[in-house]
Amino acid sequence: APIHLASFCSSIMDTIETVAKKKRIMLHSNIPEELFVEADEDKLRQILINLLSNAVSYTQDGGKVELIIQDCQDAEGTEKVLIKVSDTGIGIPKKDQPRIFERFYRVDKGRSRSSGGTGLGLSIVKHLVDQHHGEISVESELGIGTTFTVELPMLQD
Ligand code: ATP
Ligand code: MG
Repeated sequence: APIHLASFCSSIMDTIETVAKKKRIMLHSNIPEELFVEADEDKLRQILINLLSNAVSYTQDGGKVELIIQDCQDAEGTEKVLIKVSDTGIGIPKKDQPRIFERFYRVDKGRSRSSGGTGLGLSIVKHLVDQHHGEISVESELGIGTTFTVELPMLQD
């Protein structure tokens, strides 16, 4: 059954809120009430939790994290859902951006030490997005922030 994005994401945002509060990070979301997507619930949840946890981990105290979902049509008229996770965090150097979706790739030990991750999160996200015939991209500027965009077909065929 199609997933109602506004209600699905609100429970995920509640989970992330607990972590964000400890860092005084402001969490925002903007999800149109009428949007639905055909996807695997567990996999979509894993995609969102990974991207939002990264956003919170790699953003300094007092920063902002935002989840925005919109719909759009591609050149062939196929309906898509655009999921954007943005933060005002430390950013990702241009040279590392092409490699962050590789397994175990981490930008540098210094910045990642405090989060204690393994470098698998984004490779799993990429794999789950591929399984839905979607696409993922990153835009980031060092010291300014990062936006990950996931584009999923609204309907799976
Ligand atoms: P894991 O997710 O397995 O616990 P991780 O967060 O280090 O560990 P990924 O989620 O795959 O691994 O991310 C890879 C690297 O990309 C991170 O180590 C971090 O350097 C960088 N990165 C990911 N998301 C962001 C972000 N929102 N802002 C800045 N850097 C990020
Ligand atoms: Mg991670």
